[in-house]
Amino acid sequence: MRRKLIAGNWKMNGSLAANAVLLTGIRSGMGEARCEVAVCVPAPYLAQCRDALAGSPVRWGGQDVSVHESGAYTGEVSASMLLDFGSRYVIVGHSERRSYHREDDDMVAAKALRAVAAGLVPIVCVGETLQEREQGQTESTVTRQLDAVLAALSVEQVTRIVVAYEPVWAIGTGKTATPEMAQEVHGLLRSRLNQKSPAAAEVVPILYGGSMKPDNAAELLAMPDIDGGLIGGAALKALDFLSIIRAC
Ligand code: PEP
Repeated sequence: MRRKLIAGNWKMNGSLAANAVLLTGIRSGMGEARCEVAVCVPAPYLAQCRDALAGSPVRWGGQDVSVHESGAYTGEVSASMLLDFGSRYVIVGHSERRSYHREDDDMVAAKALRAVAAGLVPIVCVGETLQEREQGQTESTVTRQLDAVLAALSVEQVTRIVVAYEPVWAIGTGKTATPEMAQEVHGLLRSRLNQKSPAAAEVVPILYGGSMKPDNAAELLAMPDIDGGLIGGAALKALDFLSIIRAC
């Protein structure tokens, strides 16, 4: 059975005071969650998450990782630094990194490899822009993005990743892919995983991300190949995040 995961992506939001309220709200409202839950936070807040979430079922992690192990890379955060603060997950290849920081498929693959080799679980984001969808390039785009990562990892390493399908046109826009649209792409991603390794296709969770909210989570999560969600805006409100966790 594939594990289910609801992961929050806080992006560049938060403050010590606001995070304390949010983390306490999530922790105290979790109850008996049937899925895994994580928050991916700005690096300066990892220590706060470790202290606030220790002993709870909620895991935490970063939003990016350097391809380098250490050295003269000003501003970058290494995999070992994320691990120092107890991180389990790290997002790689988010569309905001791909577009604002010009991260290409090779760099995303190198980051995924660095994360897995260090013992982190990379949440590998793929997704098409609106223009690519309108030009019928959804399949070729997400396949190209995922294949770059699959090519860089061994069969065993692929079993230790999470994939997130995030149509770029749905991120932060309030527009969500219909469950059928999302399932079509998730099914395609599952078959690419299967080509690399049937064992990986069995165990790797494929999350949906893009304006997932309490009112649309259940129908998306009911699809056979949607194993959870990567949540942006709704992860910043404890009640919304908890309601998505309950829908999982
Ligand atoms: C995201 O940025 O990963 C995301 C899914 O954002 P939102 O939920 O706000 O669309």
